[in-house]
Amino acid sequence: MTPKGRFAPSPTGRMHLGNVFSALLSWLSAKSKGGKWLLRIEDIDPQRSRQQYANLLMDDLQWLGLQWDGEPVYQSQRSHIYEEHFERLRAQGLTYPCYCSRADLLATQAPHGNDARTVYSGTCRSLPSQPDRPAATRLMAPNQTIAFTDGHYGQHSVSLAQQVGDFIIRRKDGAWAYQLAVVVDDALMGITEVVRGRDLLLSSPQQMYVAQLLGYTPPQFIHLPLLLNTDGQRLSKRDRSLDMATLRQRHTASDIMGHLAHLAGLQPSPTPITAHELIPLFSWNRVPLNDIRHPTCTTHTASPPAP
Ligand code: GLU
Repeated sequence: MTPKGRFAPSPTGRMHLGNVFSALLSWLSAKSKGGKWLLRIEDIDPQRSRQQYANLLMDDLQWLGLQWDGEPVYQSQRSHIYEEHFERLRAQGLTYPCYCSRADLLATQAPHGNDARTVYSGTCRSLPSQPDRPAATRLMAPNQTIAFTDGHYGQHSVSLAQQVGDFIIRRKDGAWAYQLAVVVDDALMGITEVVRGRDLLLSSPQQMYVAQLLGYTPPQFIHLPLLLNTDGQRLSKRDRSLDMATLRQRHTASDIMGHLAHLAGLQPSPTPITAHELIPLFSWNRVPLNDIRHPTCTTHTASPPAP
């Protein structure tokens, strides 16, 4: 079976260096095995997603030399597919309407910040259903421990009921939740490995559980250290000096690839290099486990200083 990786950005802003780091390493992981690398635009949240950002991120990926295989998949066009899978979960009697107002607003987004989550108390689990009231839908977390081996961070064991809790699979406004859509798409796109930031490490058991209920084999999960800004926070779209608009004005694609390859432990110095030239240098053994602090100052240059 051909290995298949994917990059699944949310088009809610211009890509920044942290997104490019994930894109590069998932591309290298797939390409170094002779695999395919698919692009999925995660635009399920109509309030935050913009086609203009999807266009920019595809232009940025091509400029960087990170070409995806096949046509990009847009989550916004797959509502009927999520609906059908949602009904399959509902038919198993494992879901319930939730009238609580918090958290569901965030449910379409992948969790951020070390996957920080509060375990839902289960308030609505035993409430009678109130058909006229808008409700989110939660999937019940069973008393089951999911053990898995992350391709980079090793073994993990997570109790779904105690550490995850009942989680939202459809928002109150009808939007599909990330945790449902990601599982359905990874399965139907035939993804064999998911490479992404380690802030999503604890989403993996949730996704494995949903896959199990739907009868799908989960992909292998391989998580990456995060790029942090000087305050020790995960780089975000707010760190403007490291977004692709600024980076493209100041650096070549090879500068950026060389710099990221150095941070990823793939070369001893940030010498400019193309994405293709990195394929034979790639090995997960070289990639650090600790998060990587990165200066966001505007004077930073990705190239080594001139001799
Ligand atoms: N759309 C998610 C994000 O940008 C991707 C999550 C994933 O790779 O599973 O954070």
